[in-house]
Amino acid sequence: MDDRTADLHLHTTFSDGTDSPARVVELARKTGLSAIAITDHDTTEAIPVAQPIAARLGIELIPGIEMSASADGCEVHVLGFLFNLDHPGLVQHLREQKARRIERVHEMVRRLAQVGVRIEAEEVLRLAGEGTVGRPHVARVLLAHSYITSLPEAFAKYIGPDNPGFVPGSPLSPAQVIRVLRDAGGVPVLAHPVYLNRDELIEELVQDGLAGLEAFHSGHTPELVRRYEALADRLKLLKTGGSDYHGESKEGLPVGAVKVPLALVNALKQWKAASVR
Ligand code: AMP
Ligand code: FE
Ligand code: FE
Ligand code: ZN
Repeated sequence: MDDRTADLHLHTTFSDGTDSPARVVELARKTGLSAIAITDHDTTEAIPVAQPIAARLGIELIPGIEMSASADGCEVHVLGFLFNLDHPGLVQHLREQKARRIERVHEMVRRLAQVGVRIEAEEVLRLAGEGTVGRPHVARVLLAHSYITSLPEAFAKYIGPDNPGFVPGSPLSPAQVIRVLRDAGGVPVLAHPVYLNRDELIEELVQDGLAGLEAFHSGHTPELVRRYEALADRLKLLKTGGSDYHGESKEGLPVGAVKVPLALVNALKQWKAASVR
């Protein structure tokens, strides 16, 4: 029996994780994973950094990303796997997203100021460094200035949907993001469907070219895993899974917290080989 496993949802310091790509690969090795995908938000920059370390440790590193989109005010996260890192359309999209996310921080800071919360955009951007800047960096600055006492509180009070400081992560629709990924030869998969919690939208996304569903995720109870496995089967979607590791910012959630059989990675490869862009 093949008992090799993979974790296909990991974040590094190139987005809102707190571990370097090297550290994430080392942790994957320690927990005995055979394959991983680093899926940073709207960037692939960790991949070339992690690649030589993965090769040295005998771990297969699959091209991965988690791309932001929005649909009727809902945040939609689309995972992409096995795409061509250098595809011009993808590179251009990520360049635009980077600029939009920086402008978004300024907009969030302006909106927060209107409700008496005064933080500096520069401090948020400094915290993100060379990585993708996002709401978790805003949350950490809010914490540092004692506007909140825990990171989740930021998302409940200030920067979650319906809160005064909320600005969507991307103006693009899921269909547009799916197209970018498919044009780059990638396999688009809806991330953590429970956070979206709109199963009817998933059926629409299939029309738009969605290939898979992240049925296995650290936020899914066993009941939810069964529900999304059944939905994936009904809609003839691939199934993927991963921990959604973020390092210290999600405590008690190690690399490999969710492991899937390597067979699911092979299914992604087969889909890619058979797909028409
Ligand atoms: P962004 O892509 O900038 O909109 O940030 C989204 C990220 O914020 C997610 O990937 C999570 O890491 C984090 N996040 C979203 N909601 C929450 C929450 N309620 N509590 C803590 N972290 C959250
Ligand atoms: Fe995140
Ligand atoms: Fe996500
Ligand atoms: Zn994620």
